[in-house]
This record gives sequence, structure tokens and C-alpha cells, in this order.
Amino acid sequence: MKSTDFNYISPTTLEEAIQILDQHEGEVKIISGGQSLMPILNYRLASPQLLVDLQAIPSLSHVSITPSGTTLGARVRWVDIELHQGLRDAQPLLCAAIDHVAHYQIRNRGTVGGSLAHADPAAEMPGLAVALEGVLHLQGPQGLRRVKAVDFFLGQLSTSIAANEILVAIELPFWPHDRRWGFTEFSRRKGDFALAGAAVWFDLSAAGVASNVHLGLIGTGEKPMRLVSAEAKLNGQILSETLIQDVTLECLGAMSFQGDIHASEKYRRALMLEMISKSFAQALHHI
Ligand SMILES: Cc1cc2nc3c(=O)[nH]c(=O)nc-3n(C[C@H](O)[C@H](O)[C@H](O)COP(=O)(O)OP(=O)(O)OC[C@H]3O[C@@H](n4cnc5c(N)ncnc54)[C@H](O)[C@@H]3O)c2cc1C
Repeated sequence: MKSTDFNYISPTTLEEAIQILDQHEGEVKIISGGQSLMPILNYRLASPQLLVDLQAIPSLSHVSITPSGTTLGARVRWVDIELHQGLRDAQPLLCAAIDHVAHYQIRNRGTVGGSLAHADPAAEMPGLAVALEGVLHLQGPQGLRRVKAVDFFLGQLSTSIAANEILVAIELPFWPHDRRWGFTEFSRRKGDFALAGAAVWFDLSAAGVASNVHLGLIGTGEKPMRLVSAEAKLNGQILSETLIQDVTLECLGAMSFQGDIHASEKYRRALMLEMISKSFAQALHHI
């Protein structure tokens, strides 16, 4: 199928783009990389009268790395992250996860902002935004508001962004060089959406005690999430394979998993356990 007819506009400033959204509320859709939106239009799941393209607004493609953290503009593409050497040092866990996103052609166009706004719980970027305690910058007619990633995602393909707002950037806290981290996911073919993925990070004291444990889950539930029950049990502990396995098993056991045509409930739970174990093993052995 092909999309219904639409008009197209490519503003060169953020102010102009917001004004257009405000004037055409309900009839307009933002397009960034188009990798999720174009299939939606072609299947006629949405029929906007106007598309507002963000690609001619230069400020949205900016990457900033400062001593207080990293800011990625909404138009930063997967390939930009892949090729940015500074980002590999500043946000190694993010870069490792983004290496798994999609195929070459899609990586060349798909963007950070598009993925966050689309809010697919199986996508890497929303999961990492929650795991890394990212803060999203939303710009609208009333100015800029900052929303924690955990509050931004409301459910599957649903966020707290207003119709006349644009997601302009995501801010990630400073990442110390000695922080431990791991990322593992499983998909049937390289570049497909993951059936399950786990992002892990924590700090270790000289005595080997873990603090700040973060465990982000991808591909489970309605929205990206952290397994906070496991984090609480692992904080303040000397992490061993057995402890991690026991805690994870107990906490995943208390969670509901949904089976679908891709994987049964039992398989998804077992897969998530495996992804978490592997991510912790990476983090502990500094792979
Ligand atoms: C075959 C295939 C495989 C894929 N595999 C993966 C994968 O493994 N992992 C993964 O994470 N993704 C995957 N994707 C999705 C891909 O990464 C998309 O790029 C991403 O989901 C959307 O980004 P986009 O820039 O293309 O956004 P678009 O498609 O342009 O927009 C998506 C939605 O976000 C809205 N939007 C876009 N930008 C903004 C903004 N700045 N502010 C407010 N709203 C905005 C749009 O209106 C639209 O509703 C895959 C896609 C395809 C087609």
C-alpha cells in the first residue's frame, strides 16, 4: 500500500517547526529518519495532512560531551553514534547497545529522537535512556521542559510528549572511566529487534562492593524498564555469579512475561535471565 496524500514542509529553525505544529495540531506529523513513520503511513495506520521534516534544523544534530555529561540532539543518527570516537569513551554502554540497532541502510537514517518518540519497548535507545537515567528535552510554544526518561515512556508507542512539542535532545549523566558495564541482547537475525536485552552498570569500591547498580531490560513489557527489585538486592554486595543468578531468578520470577508468535512466555523469561547473566559477566570481567 501507499500513504494517503500529504503536504511536506522542511523548516530551518526550531521556532518555525514548533509554530507549524502549534497551528496544525492533530493534522501534522514530525518526520525525522522516516524509518518507523514511513511504514506507518504506507500501511495507512496514520494519515497526517502535513509532514514537518526536522532534517534542515542544524542544532538538532549536535553531540556535546562535557564534564557534566553528554547531550545528543534528536537528529543524531545511529551511524553518527557509531563513528563518533569521543562518544565511545564518554558513553561506552550506549555505544555498545546502539551497535545492535537495525541494518546499515536503516542506521544511516534512523535517529535518536525518532526512536525515543516512537517508544518501541523492544528498541535499544528507549531502554538505554531509562537504564542510563537520561533526561529528555521537549521544546514547545511555552519553552523547554525536561522530563526523566522513566516518566517519558507511558506504554507501548506512547509517551508524554504533547502534539505541539518537539523532542530536541537527550541528556545523559557523566560516566566515570572506571564504571563497570555490560550489554547483551538476542535477536534471531543480526539487526532485528531484540527478543530480549539487558543493559547493566554499577560502580565497584576498592573492596569490590557494588553500588549504583542499574539493570535495564529491553524487549519485555509495555515500556522500557529497570529491574529495581534486583538492583536493590545487589547494591552493597560483593557480586558473584551465584548471587546474581539467584537474585535475578527470584526477581524475574515475580515479573509477568507475555508470549507471542516470536517466543513463548517461558522462553522469554529464560532468555532474559541469560541476557542479564551475560551482561553482568561482561561488567565483572571488563570485556
Ligand atoms: C527493518 C527495520 C529494522 C529495525 N530494527 C531496529 C532495531 O533493531 N532496533 C531499534 O531500536 N530500531 C530498529 N528499527 C527502527 C529504526 O531504528 C528507526 O530509525 C526508529 O525507530 C525511528 O527513528 P526515525 O528517526 O526513523 O523516526 P521517524 O520514523 O521519522 O519517526 C518515528 C516517530 O517519532 C516521531 N518523531 C520523530 N522525531 C521526533 C522528534 N524529534 N520529536 C517528536 N516526535 C518525533 C514521528 O512523528 C513518528 O511518530 C528498525 C526499523 C526497520 C524499518
